[in-house]
Order: sequence, then structure tokens, then C-alpha cells
Amino acid sequence: MGHFCRVCACSKPNEQFSGKGHKHHICKACSRKPEEERCAIDQENEIVGFMSQSNISGKNIARLHKLKLSTNLRVAELADIALAVARVKPHKKRRLKVLAKEHRALFMKVSESGLIHAHHD
Ligand SMILES: [Zn+2]
Repeated sequence: MGHFCRVCACSKPNEQFSGKGHKHHICKACSRKPEEERCAIDQENEIVGFMSQSNISGKNIARLHKLKLSTNLRVAELADIALAVARVKPHKKRRLKVLAKEHRALFMKVSESGLIHAHHD
């Protein structure tokens, strides 16, 4: 029986987790990564999570405004794209169709950033 690491998104054997890491779902290899890098991965997952919800809520939007200020460029970029999406199509239903048809530039950003994968169940 393995255990899932939320940072590298891998299932690894139990011996690759320390007691504390086990609780926090971080494997030994990832726990050696700098704090900032780990945070960025968590935040990226958080943004992908918002995009995969049926609706991006007001609370999510407030959070995205904070993430947009991240010093991590990838996190800031993803938050910016997610905010732009939330402005035109907060509901996931038909989002990609609407974006592709009416907001082509934004659709390309969603596609290129990889956020498009949040839409595949
Ligand atoms: Zn890991």
C-alpha cells in the first residue's frame, strides 16, 4: 500500500514518507524542495481546482486576486487567466465552447497554460 504525495502528484511507497510528511501528504523528496516551490505547486493545483468546479465563486475570485500577486510567475499567470475566465464565463458548463467562439485570445491562453485540462473530467 502506497501513499499519495500532493506535491509531485505521485503514489509512492510508505517508506518514502516521514511521519510528518505522511500526515501532510508530502514525500521525502518533495519535502526537501524549497518552501516556495512547494507553495507554488499547491497554488497551481488550487487554481486548476477552481477551473474544474462547476462555478468559480466570489470567494474563489477573491483568492485568485491574491494569487495573482504571487512572485511565482506561473502562479500569477494562471491566476490572471482564471480571473479573465471568471469574468466572462464563471460557469464551467459550455465554457470552452463559449471561449473558443467569443473569446478566442483567452481560449488560447487557457489552452496553452494547460488550464484546459481542468475541463476534462
Ligand atoms: Zn512528492
